[in-house]
Amino acid sequence: MKKALAALLPEELVAEFPLGQLYRGNQIFHWLQSGLSDFQGMTNLSKELRQRLEDSCLIQTSRIESRAVDPDGSTKYRIELKDGRLIESVLLVDSRGRKTICLSTQVGCAMGCRFCRTASMGFIRNLEPYEIVEQVLLIEKDGGKAGNIVFMGMGEPLLNLGNLRKAVTVLGHPLGRAIAPKRMTLSTCGIVDGIEEMATLGPPIRLALSLVTAEPLLRAHLMPSTESNSLSRIREALLRYQGVTKKRVTLEIVLLGGVNTRQRDIEELFRFVRQLKVIVNLIPWNPVDSLPFRRPLKDEINDFKRRLNAGGIQVTQRYRRGGGISAACGQLFT
Ligand code: SAH
Repeated sequence: MKKALAALLPEELVAEFPLGQLYRGNQIFHWLQSGLSDFQGMTNLSKELRQRLEDSCLIQTSRIESRAVDPDGSTKYRIELKDGRLIESVLLVDSRGRKTICLSTQVGCAMGCRFCRTASMGFIRNLEPYEIVEQVLLIEKDGGKAGNIVFMGMGEPLLNLGNLRKAVTVLGHPLGRAIAPKRMTLSTCGIVDGIEEMATLGPPIRLALSLVTAEPLLRAHLMPSTESNSLSRIREALLRYQGVTKKRVTLEIVLLGGVNTRQRDIEELFRFVRQLKVIVNLIPWNPVDSLPFRRPLKDEINDFKRRLNAGGIQVTQRYRRGGGISAACGQLFT
């Protein structure tokens, strides 16, 4: 079977082929991360080396199977992996034209959040580091370079942390895409061991927690992962994470109309954020057929926001990007 190259670092390329000098590895790494699709285009390598690479390796193991463009400018990509599995990734464009790529880290997801469409796929498998990097290379070739990466697509990133860490190292490498760690964000449903590991071993990227609600009973009902990752343990892990990294954490709250907008949810949220440095990001629920929720009314959103602000919490609201093509948060499904 041919070898996947997209997540090999220069020194790993040198060892793999063996190339002797590091600059050879640097050259190949640079070509791979520039999005080149053909070994013969690696013009500063000898013909013989190009041929050897072509015979034994693949620049891309995945391919764009289809794409859907939303009138708001975002594009959802359906990507076929080498085993025929499908994942989705999204290129988001904000009002100022800045691009963000939303990456998947797993095929399907095991977390079972009741409001999320990906949950209905169940967990199929983890993505390899090269499958994570290839999403960026494929999407940028189609849609142009993006300045930000968010690990908020399909899957629970902290349950594939080793592979994600490797992908982050590659994406951040100065000879490649050189995306600064502060331009990458990982979103988790709250895997305590993973938050602890991230605090000590990295990657040093931004962290977002899908809190949804800080009211324990409702959260346990909406997010079954709460059973083995209680809110109090998540909170302690965030405190330790902030102690080590000094970074502000984003709390994402998917607003489910009439469900998690109660006064209780607000009160518990105030208790949850004590001693933490946070910003709250509100995401009005994006409709998923067959799920028994509704989008919150405008008044409900504004009222929720106002009550958080009154308690001194900084709040932002996520624009509904990609909603027209089922590419918005929690609508990814293959
Ligand atoms: N597993 C990770 C990352 C994927 S979900 C996590 O849970 O954070 C990315 C975000 O989309 C999460 O904040 C999740 O709560 C939210 N989400 C899921 N389904 C949604 C829906 N139907 N509408 C809006 N947001 C949703």
